[in-house]
Amino acid sequence: MREHPIPYGRQHITDEDIAAVVETLRSDYLTQGPKIKEFEDKFAAYVDARYAVAVNNATAGLHLAATALGVKPGRRVIVTPMTFAASANCIRYCGGEVTFCDIDPETYLMDIRKLAEILEAHPAGTFAGIVIVDFAGYPHNLEEFRKLADRHGLWIIEDACHAPGAWWTDSNGRRQRTGNSRFADCTVFSFHPVKHIATGEGGMVTTDSKELYDRLMLYRTHGITRDPAMLHATDEGGWYYEMQELGYNYRLTDIQAALGISQLSRADAGIERRQEIARRYDEGLADLPQVKTPARAEDILHAFHLYVIQVPDRRALYDFLRKEGVLAQVHYAPLHLMPYYRRDGWKEGDLPVVEDYYRHCLSLPMYPTLTDEEQQYVIDKIHEFYAR
Ligand SMILES: *Cc1c(COP(=O)(O)O)cnc(C)c1O
Repeated sequence: MREHPIPYGRQHITDEDIAAVVETLRSDYLTQGPKIKEFEDKFAAYVDARYAVAVNNATAGLHLAATALGVKPGRRVIVTPMTFAASANCIRYCGGEVTFCDIDPETYLMDIRKLAEILEAHPAGTFAGIVIVDFAGYPHNLEEFRKLADRHGLWIIEDACHAPGAWWTDSNGRRQRTGNSRFADCTVFSFHPVKHIATGEGGMVTTDSKELYDRLMLYRTHGITRDPAMLHATDEGGWYYEMQELGYNYRLTDIQAALGISQLSRADAGIERRQEIARRYDEGLADLPQVKTPARAEDILHAFHLYVIQVPDRRALYDFLRKEGVLAQVHYAPLHLMPYYRRDGWKEGDLPVVEDYYRHCLSLPMYPTLTDEEQQYVIDKIHEFYAR
């Protein structure tokens, strides 16, 4: 057993990060100050998006996106079951209904053929939109999803919590950065410490639409606006604001934004390090026929939030690694089998591909500060397990 167990993910905080936070603590604004817009602008530039809205976590961001896109009771939305609960819960917060669509057995993303089957099997107008997740950091080909969505009049929320810094290639050979929101309507990112960029709690919503941007901004702060162009009344005076919708307080603080700005400046280095770690796992596990390593493709950049393997005896390997100080994790138990969603009638056997994936998946340690020695230890322990 190691003195310090190796987690599956971990934040990386530098002296520069700490200095940036301290500087903000000494400034005039702890919240609603200039760091928010600076973080939004820099993040928008990073993912090549037109608009970005900082929020207090990605769950709030998903709720804002679903609200801005008009989800309400009676609206039905198609969601991938291979994700964290928040990707589907945001639809339920708005009173909408969730239909789960099975995943592709290679990429673990929503299977676009199954999505097309669901859409064709229902009358036009049954579904309002889809929520897709760039699972583990594997970016969607959003051109294909957009075409299908347009044929059926659907909007797209892309939950890219796993994929800041990823890109994919469109049919013209152009690289499209995940979250540029030229294909999805809204893209949502998380800055939880296990994700690429850590602010403690935090998130960002990107969009290409001015109309959606205005709605996201309105709902982020209680539905209140001071924007003269949006006010119903005229010439009330400089103090005047209006609450125009029932919104929320989903603001990020300046303290967190300062940390985010500092973290963002190292984001590319983090992605590069994740590629190296993935390559070393690919090579180090290649001789084990029991281990299925993640799908790779030439025309994408995988962001590798997670490095997920599939093995026949997952429970035994998980327990063995834990005993040896390697805190591998399971992402995720499929959402449709959670007690909450079972209440809608979902049951074992409904989505066979994701259920099979879940029986075999294991996420190995993957974060930029994982040392070569630690990674070699993980690889050696997996070999030891299969040599028994
Ligand atoms: C982490 C995560 C979320 C939630 O992020 P928070 O910032 O913790 O609210 C949502 N979706 C996915 C896919 C995630 O990984």
